Amino acid sequence: MALQKYPSLFLDRDGTLIKDVGYISNPGRVVFYTCTFDALKEAQQFFRLFIITNQPGIAKGIVTLDEAITVNTYIQSVFADKGITIESIYMCPHAKEDKCHCRKPKTYFVDQAVAYYNLDVQHSFVIGDHPSDILLAKNAGMQGIYVLTGHGKKHKKEIDNCVIVKKNLQYAVDYILKRVQL
Ligand SMILES: [Zn+2]
Repeated sequence: MALQKYPSLFLDRDGTLIKDVGYISNPGRVVFYTCTFDALKEAQQFFRLFIITNQPGIAKGIVTLDEAITVNTYIQSVFADKGITIESIYMCPHAKEDKCHCRKPKTYFVDQAVAYYNLDVQHSFVIGDHPSDILLAKNAGMQGIYVLTGHGKKHKKEIDNCVIVKKNLQYAVDYILKRVQL
């Protein structure tokens, strides 16, 4: 018998789950979108949840690695208090010009998660407000859903017409759940 594989959602952090307020160095600046908790409670009935976030503020010296980890830990704990399990938060601390191996749209963290958690790539999604999230999905063989929160509106013209675009995380999750329940 084949091992069960888990479909998953790879969620962007800033501009997708929480408001994009620039480089966040302490939990006091974290503001969740009002729809985030309900959307993820529904989503986790069918999907394992992961966060992948690019945090170039670390490379630029604006946020320390410790501060960024503290913010991520806080976010994960708020979700846990609401009964939402984020399996792992993956963070690239580099800037674009560092040409690192882990910054989205590179699939480094997705590959790690797929291997470690035995994920079902074919039935997994990436949700985010930046074209790199859509490109990550494409590179990883998943479907990307683009949301118009955060920087979504600003960069919309950079994404292909065929990409699914939703108003926010709740609409993105609704769309996905409709498809998996068919
Ligand atoms: Zn990196």
